[in-house]
Amino acid sequence: MAQTQEERELSVVIGLEVHVQLETDTKIFCGCSTAPTDEPNGHTCPVCLGLPGALPVLNEAAVESAVKIGKAIDATIPEETRFHRKNYYYPDLPKNFQITQYDEPICQDGELECLVAGERRTIRIRRAHLEEDPGSLKHKGGSIDTAEYTLVDYNRAGVPLMEIVTEPDFRGASEVRAFLSKLEEVLEYLGVFDSARDGSLRIDANLSIVKGDKIAEDGSIPEDVLADANRTEVKNISSHKGAEKALAYEAQRQKNAIKRGRGVEQETRHWDEARGITVSMRSKEEEKDYRYFREADLPPLQVADWKEQIEIPELPDARRERFQAEYDLDSEAADKLTSTKQVADFYEDVAAEFDAELAATWVADELLGELNYRDMTITDIQSRLDEVKALIELVATDEITAKNARETVLRSMLDDGRGPATIVAEEGLGKTSGDAVKAAVTTAIEENPDAVEDYHNGEGGALNFLVGQVMAQTGGSADPGEVNQLLREELE
Ligand code: ADP
Ligand code: ZN
Ligand code: MG
Repeated sequence: MAQTQEERELSVVIGLEVHVQLETDTKIFCGCSTAPTDEPNGHTCPVCLGLPGALPVLNEAAVESAVKIGKAIDATIPEETRFHRKNYYYPDLPKNFQITQYDEPICQDGELECLVAGERRTIRIRRAHLEEDPGSLKHKGGSIDTAEYTLVDYNRAGVPLMEIVTEPDFRGASEVRAFLSKLEEVLEYLGVFDSARDGSLRIDANLSIVKGDKIAEDGSIPEDVLADANRTEVKNISSHKGAEKALAYEAQRQKNAIKRGRGVEQETRHWDEARGITVSMRSKEEEKDYRYFREADLPPLQVADWKEQIEIPELPDARRERFQAEYDLDSEAADKLTSTKQVADFYEDVAAEFDAELAATWVADELLGELNYRDMTITDIQSRLDEVKALIELVATDEITAKNARETVLRSMLDDGRGPATIVAEEGLGKTSGDAVKAAVTTAIEENPDAVEDYHNGEGGALNFLVGQVMAQTGGSADPGEVNQLLREELE
């Protein structure tokens, strides 16, 4: 659709605050489990309930995850990092303050590259800091306005979060989506995040509209222009798709307001997923409202030497490129085989033992194809990867046909849980040759005298019929060419 002059002149500017849940066994300041449970408040203790006198102890694993993220986004990790109290009263916050980081976050000035419509874009990351999650509220019998009563569950209170704050570098909703996919991919590679976990990604998005003539040649926007632009902060976004929809809506709403001469209120808005709109919540709170002060119950954390000690795995982009070069894969296969760290690790494991091309076919096409069809991922069969390797071995050593391996063994493995050797034995799928095929040929001739007679009378279809009988007897595991030849010899 052609843009009007007016629309071209209004440019969308977006910055994100992304909260990701770190995959640690226990909470950030106490020993309570972070595992999902059906028992409300089952994973709580005096620390995460904020009882008087209870003191926080920092979880090393959360710091390790934060350092890994810092290294992956090429951030500055300071010598020393500190914790602050962010004060506000709300029933999901048992202490009436949240322990977070303020002026000395664990990661500063990083960046992440992502592909937007085939073009590389670098998004600057202003900071990333550690904090504790509040609890969750369950409004019974309706929404917050209409509920009869509200239940409070502190199982989530104290779960470690990393808040990742970008610079306002996005110029549209689709860029945000590309960034979020890339971010999740990297976090999962690092093993610090699980996208499948409920509520593990929560996004606040800031959006403003800037006039085209304020944007520099190179696409950058001066600080004062950004600061002056009235922006809204859209809360309650919990998925990539939700982010794209919410921001597309919000961009249009602001443009309309500007075109009608109303201007944009600086405020916090709520994304109403069901209605597909953003609604005004409150005027935007400011930093000074939170009365930040130092958390005196936690000493400053000397984090510089952690950075040296903690290693991170090869990241997806680098691995993709290496796969293409090292295993001679096309970009499509390399994409599939690096889609998650688990897939990439398994591919390399298989390629080390068998041929790289056979490994690519079996992991990228057969295995991922069958898993995908069943709405499963490789993590669902992590404990059975040795069985998949055993199956590939049966193909590589020519013990079963590729067709049987793919269509019968692999599918049965996934559907009924049996191992490959069992399936091959029980279904009689071992490749048949030599004496076994000869025996089947003899049986077919003995059992089908009519067909034999037809053959001698020169009826062409008779031989094909007999081949079919032998193939059926051997469970499709014989070589049809060999069967054909043996039959002719026997019949003459
Ligand atoms: P606040 O004081 O509201 O927390 P920050 O300066 O910390 O503001 O920025 C919060 C988020 O707002 C960041 O993600 C930043 O990129 C984004 N942001 C800043 N200016 C703009 C703007 N003009 N338009 C859109 N987002 C912006
Ligand atoms: Zn606890
Ligand atoms: Mg802020």
